[in-house]
Formats: sequence, structure tokens, C-alpha cells
Amino acid sequence: MSSWWELGNKGRYRGDELATREIVCPFCQERGNFSIDHRAIKKKPNASKALYFDTLRCGICANYVMVLWSTRDFGPPAHDFMTLPWPRRLTDVPKQFPQPMARFWLQAHRSYADENWDAAVLMARSAVQAAMHDQGAQGGTLYAQINHLAERSVLPPHMKEWAHELRLLGNDSAHPNGEKQPKQGDVRDILEFLDFLFQYLFILPSDIKQYRERRSRQTDTA
Ligand SMILES: [Zn+2]
Repeated sequence: MSSWWELGNKGRYRGDELATREIVCPFCQERGNFSIDHRAIKKKPNASKALYFDTLRCGICANYVMVLWSTRDFGPPAHDFMTLPWPRRLTDVPKQFPQPMARFWLQAHRSYADENWDAAVLMARSAVQAAMHDQGAQGGTLYAQINHLAERSVLPPHMKEWAHELRLLGNDSAHPNGEKQPKQGDVRDILEFLDFLFQYLFILPSDIKQYRERRSRQTDTA
């Protein structure tokens, strides 16, 4: 997004009203229990696009969340929003993530937030293995599955190397008398690479599909 006026064009939420049911209170973790305390609207000159600046009040803990949101200006009604502050605890899994990978991914991030480095590495390893299964990997071990997907070019070469490193780090954390303990910086990097891998495998294809559907609608009506 190179301009704030593009907010909403991804259309992650249906309708042209703010989906407060999707917003989690960053203070008490309650979902969707808000009233609008204040709303300011800035319209784009000579266009239908508008940016909404809402202050929401939580019905449970009475704290405030600032929400910047806007609707999509093409296709079926949809919108996107950003909140400040946001929950420190991760609550949402991208809807494109398949199960059980999504569950492992969420637990990896939560373990990191709770400073459980071994658990975070193990869950990241499980998330990668579940992703390999989802992509049709063959082989009885994670080692074989990674190589199989790399041979089929599902995994780019640098992602293959990284997946093997995570596999080895996971082995260290899984062994009860393993002396090597993962370091916080390494675990943080692992989760970042994990997010990139899943972005590439699951979110990018669905974004490209949306793009192509939109393009074909435009050519149909042209
Ligand atoms: Zn609250």
C-alpha cells in the first residue's frame, strides 16, 4: 500500500460498515464489544473514497481503541481497518491458512510471546511439516518431505535450506537431554521466516487469484 487512500482495496472484511465484531480489545482481549465514541471522516477530493477515523470504547473494560478504516472503491462492498493499539497476544490466524498448520503457527507465535523458546521452535517445526503435507509432500520424514517439495519447485532453494535449518533446530529442542538451547534472536528470526514462507505458499496464491478474477471481470465488461 503506497498511499493511505488505498486502504480498503484488499477488502479483507465484507460490507461497507466497520466490522467491529472482528476487533479484539487490546486491553481485556474481549472481541467485538464496542461503541463508537468519536468518528471523523475525510473524503478524497473529487472521489467517493473516504477515510474514517474512529475511536471505539470497549464495553467491558472501558478502554479505547483508535481505528483507521476505509471501504473498497470497486467490486462488492468490502473494507479494511487498522487499529492502534493492537492486542499484544496474537488472536487471529489468516483465513487462507489450512488446519492443522494454522493451529501450530498460532502456538509458535504465542510461545514466543510467552518466552518459551523451545516450544516456539517445536511448534514452528510442526507448522512447517503440516504445510509440507498440505502441499502434497511425499516421504516419511520431514527431511524427505522438504526435499520432495524443493524438487517440484514448490519451495524455492533458499526456503529449502532454511526449512532444513529449522528441522535441525527443532531436533535440538525435542530431545530431553539436548544441551543446545535456542536463543531468543534465533527464534524471532525463525518466526519471521516462517511468516514469509506461509505468505508465499498460502496468501500470495490467493491474492493473485483475486487479482486475476478482478482483471477478468474488467475485460468482460470492457
Ligand atoms: Zn476491553
